[in-house]
Amino acid sequence: MIIYLFLAADLPGAMKRIKTGMPHINKQIQIAVALVFTTSIALAQNIRNNPSSNHGNKFEQLGTLLPDANTYRTASGAPGHQYWQQRADYVIAAELDEKKLRLNGEEKITYYNNSPDVLTYLWLQLDENQHNPTNDANYFDGSQKHLPLTVGQLQGYDVKKNLEGYGVNIISVTDSSGKALPYTINLTMMRIDLPRALQPRQKFVFRIKWNYKLPERMKIGGRGGFERFDDNGQCVFTITQWYPRMCVYSDYQGWNHKQFTGRGEFALVFGNFEVSMKVPADHVVGATGVCTNLTEVLTAGQLDRWKRSLTSTTPVEIIDLDLAKEREQKPDSTHFKTWKFKAENVRDFAWGSSRKFVWDAMGVKIEGKQVMAMSFYPKESYGLYNKYSTKTVAHTLRVYSKHTIAYPYPTAISVEAANGMEYPMICFNYGRTDADGTYSSRTKYGMLTVIIHEVGHNFFPMIVNSDERQWSWMDEGLNTFVQFLTEQEFDNNYPSARGPAHKIVDYMRIPKSQLEPIMTNSENINNFGSNAYAKPATALNILRETIMGRELFDHAFKEYSRRWAFRHPSPADFFRTMEDASGVDLDWFWRGWFYDIEPVDISLDSAFVFTASSPEKVKVEYDTILAREPREAFKHISGIRNRQNGMHFLVDEDTLLRDFYYYYKPGRDTVADVVNRYENFSIPDQQEMKLYENLFYYELHFRNKGGLVMPIIIKWTFKDGSEEVEYINAYIWRKNENRVSKVFVKNKEVVAITLDPYKETADIDENNNTLSRLPEPSRFDLFKTKTMGRGQNNESNPMKKQLNEGKR
Ligand SMILES: [Zn+2]
Repeated sequence: MIIYLFLAADLPGAMKRIKTGMPHINKQIQIAVALVFTTSIALAQNIRNNPSSNHGNKFEQLGTLLPDANTYRTASGAPGHQYWQQRADYVIAAELDEKKLRLNGEEKITYYNNSPDVLTYLWLQLDENQHNPTNDANYFDGSQKHLPLTVGQLQGYDVKKNLEGYGVNIISVTDSSGKALPYTINLTMMRIDLPRALQPRQKFVFRIKWNYKLPERMKIGGRGGFERFDDNGQCVFTITQWYPRMCVYSDYQGWNHKQFTGRGEFALVFGNFEVSMKVPADHVVGATGVCTNLTEVLTAGQLDRWKRSLTSTTPVEIIDLDLAKEREQKPDSTHFKTWKFKAENVRDFAWGSSRKFVWDAMGVKIEGKQVMAMSFYPKESYGLYNKYSTKTVAHTLRVYSKHTIAYPYPTAISVEAANGMEYPMICFNYGRTDADGTYSSRTKYGMLTVIIHEVGHNFFPMIVNSDERQWSWMDEGLNTFVQFLTEQEFDNNYPSARGPAHKIVDYMRIPKSQLEPIMTNSENINNFGSNAYAKPATALNILRETIMGRELFDHAFKEYSRRWAFRHPSPADFFRTMEDASGVDLDWFWRGWFYDIEPVDISLDSAFVFTASSPEKVKVEYDTILAREPREAFKHISGIRNRQNGMHFLVDEDTLLRDFYYYYKPGRDTVADVVNRYENFSIPDQQEMKLYENLFYYELHFRNKGGLVMPIIIKWTFKDGSEEVEYINAYIWRKNENRVSKVFVKNKEVVAITLDPYKETADIDENNNTLSRLPEPSRFDLFKTKTMGRGQNNESNPMKKQLNEGKR
């Protein structure tokens, strides 16, 4: 799923001056003396854990915070030699009743007990019971009165009435011979009691018949259901979390039957699927897996175009816009067609069906293997999806395959359905043009981002099958991180909302009482987008760019993906593998970023300079050192390195992807002047000092105000205008987590010192990072939330103006 924060805008920064500090003589230093640039900040006490000690436990190993290793999961983070997992195969026949807006289904489940345990019952998920008026998930949530009251609000309070008729009807549960099996429904979970205990290495075959009323997603919410369009009442059906599904039974938590309330997504076991869906004859179906009867459901012309698309490197429309429009206008077909699909080794199965769908496809080579990238979309999104969707699917598969494992499935589908939700090989996204065919930058990048994100979920958690209902960060955080890499490889100027460290600063700054650790259960998170998506994604980007370096990080991240592809990893397996494969001690990092809520705020409290040269007092006035020229748009470290490394960006390789927004750059504010000064004292000394007389010694004093220990990154700006950036490992804090100092030797005079110049560490207060203050780039964008899907009319759309003026 995606929760989306978006859009950059630069605002003028506030101009700040620093005060000149008081001279300070350090008598311990024989050679000389110094003074001082100092910030005006008082050295307030900020020792959290133990005021009498400089040690907290920030560098201690995680130890008991992690579960003990065993034969199923090793201490290195890999599956152990006795690792096991369950399997479930499904044969499902479904029928979409468009007139009654119901879904009827019948399934045969073959459940394989690969565990060493004897099972006397099985647990299944009934997610559609989220909408059952007696089991309603909304009862888990508080509510309050709104004044003034509207009819809509009054209606909204009457949840039981609104949900009348919804929820799963279980018609029968039988064994393979047709004999009824006893079952018990507990809200969104169903327990089936086995006639005989299921022994290790045995399988059990049973059948379930069920049906349910399809929810109108846009009105009552939910993962699946239908959207009805205003112009002619036609619908797009998205059939998801729709059949009784086996819960995960695992070595580390037994049955996971944590109730579904709509947020914590799901965890399921791998298996093979054969699914047939009977739908109106003028519908098109897109689904997990491969369609096995295209010759029965397509015309000869459509089948020809499908065959052409297999080797085409640009999308081919198998169902084109004219046909989709024609089907909407004609009377609905009263005949039916049955589409048949097969999918192997997947954790779930989903599908979409509509007579509104355009369908395009093209082949993409992933490490020598052919994969079909495809899109299904209504006419309302044609202007965006036809140009971008399938090519973005292909791009996503290529970049994710590079960073994880080669995409193993035969298809990957993007469906435009005014939302953002993922399933194996198929996902549902948003992005519609205005009626005149134009769109805003926000809609365009929102669409690209949601497609990359949801297609990316194929890897996390559809292949690397973590438990979403327990740990949202394990799929959303890891996925949002690789999404960022994929965006940056799309276009070096891609306005990524999540990933760069400086984008998380506003969240890290909020009061501690409102913050939760990343290691918080999915259902209990308040700031879901920031906590489960942005913060873990940022942390991983910091690991890659700042702590570990790309080479060590990429190897370890790939190793985690390889070890846990088609398996069920836990948080400890991730933490351990990243260390095990890289040789970097990261316990302090997991502790600070994943188990704690402290922010980064490293303060440069004072800087002393001393020299071995003459006592002449030098006084330098400098006022425009860092403001010599208009400041360029801020560029994050990943973007800079990608460009330096000569990365090829998709928009350069495929210039068809360039549009109005590629060329359009909003105006940037320039920086006003910055005033500062420093004084340099020095005293004469012994002869041997001559050796050092042309050198400058800078003693810098740092304070950890935020609490979260991080590397110290220093940019030195020299008098001759040149610059140097130095990285000091976070270990500098290991003996004193609150204050450290360090002397640096330079052969040139320094006129300015700036901490974290590329904003890599998510430092929440930049006012104490520098001697020359620069205005901060605006973070206006961070807390603008975007409503997904429809209704983009209220945003600025300069493309429309361009269109009206007849340009481009
Ligand atoms: Zn997601």
